[in-house]
Amino acid sequence: MKAVMLHSHGGPEVLEYTDFPTPEPGPGQVLVRLKAAALNRLDLWVRKGWPGIKLEYPHIPGADGAGEVAAVGAGVRKWAPGDWVVINSNLSCGECDYCLAGMDNRCRTWQLLGETVRGTYAQYVSISAGNLHRIPDGFSPRTAAAAGLVFHTAWHSLIRRGRLRAGETVLVVGASGGVNSACIQIAKLAGARVIVVGSNATKMELAQALGADDLIDRSKDENWSKQVFMMTDKRGADVVVDNVGTTFPQSFRAASKGGRILTVGNTGGPQFEIDNRFIFSKHLSLLGSTMGTHNDFAQVMELIFAGKLKAVLDRDFPLQEAGAAQEYLASGEQLGKVTLSIG
Ligand SMILES: [Zn+2]
Repeated sequence: MKAVMLHSHGGPEVLEYTDFPTPEPGPGQVLVRLKAAALNRLDLWVRKGWPGIKLEYPHIPGADGAGEVAAVGAGVRKWAPGDWVVINSNLSCGECDYCLAGMDNRCRTWQLLGETVRGTYAQYVSISAGNLHRIPDGFSPRTAAAAGLVFHTAWHSLIRRGRLRAGETVLVVGASGGVNSACIQIAKLAGARVIVVGSNATKMELAQALGADDLIDRSKDENWSKQVFMMTDKRGADVVVDNVGTTFPQSFRAASKGGRILTVGNTGGPQFEIDNRFIFSKHLSLLGSTMGTHNDFAQVMELIFAGKLKAVLDRDFPLQEAGAAQEYLASGEQLGKVTLSIG
C-alpha cells in the first residue's frame, strides 16, 4: 500500500509518501481501505516529538479516518467487506477494571491510533472491530473522518464529565479549533446558552454561525471575565470550556459559584499559576478528560449522521501532500478540519 510515514522526528520534510506492506487483520481485527483521513494538532506534536515519546519506525501518523471494510480477521462477526465505517482512534484493552466499567478512555494500556500506533495516513489500516462505527449509505467518509476525534473529545468533556444540562450557560474560551467548534454545537444542542471569547473576527463569525449566543472580542477588552459576569446578571458561567490553560485565572473569575471548568488540552502551554482561593471560595470543580469512550463515540457519531451536529470542513489535500496539509494546519489559518483524500 501507499502510506505517509516518518523515520525520525522533525519538520514536515520528514514525512515520506512511499510503499509499505499492507497490514494483515489479526484475530478480532478489521482491515479498512481508507478513503479519508483528518488532521489533528496531535499529528504535528507526534511529528516533532516530545520527551519520552517512543515510536516504532517507520511511523504512520493519523488518528481520524473513514473508509470501507476490505477484509476481516478471525472471529469478527459484526463486519463484512463492503461495509462503510468511521474509526474511533481510542485503543483500549477491553479487559482492565476501567474498560469493564465502561470507562475505556481510562484503560490501563490506553493508546491512541497515530500517536504510538501506526495510523490513518495510509491506504489501509488494521484495527480492532470494536473501534469501528457504521456510516450510513451515502454519508461522506470525509465528513465522518473530520468529525471523529474532535466531536468525540468535546462530547465526553461537556456531556459525560461536565454533565451539561439545558438552561445552563457555557463559556467557550477561544473561537477557533475543532474541539471548540464542536463544543459550541453540542452545548446548543443540549439547550445551553453559549458565550464565546475570541480575538479573530473571522473565527468569531464562525462561532456565531455555529450557534453561539454571545460573542466577546478579547482583543478589544482583555478583562473578558467581567463581561461574562455582566452578561449573566453577575452570576457567571455554569460551565467553562478552557482548552488554553494560561487563561485559567480569567476562567475561574468568569465561572459561577459551583461552576465546572472543563479542560481537554492546553494550547497556551502546559504550566500556569492557579489561585486556589477561587477554587474553594467559589466551590469550583476542575474536570479534565482526554478523548472519549466507545459509548460516547457511538452517541456523537449518530448525531453527526442525523445532521444535528456538523463537522466544519476546511481544505482537502491528496494523501501524498500530507506535509503541505500539516504546514497549513500549523499556520493556524484554517477555519475547520483539514482532511486528506486517499485514493
Ligand atoms: Zn483496558
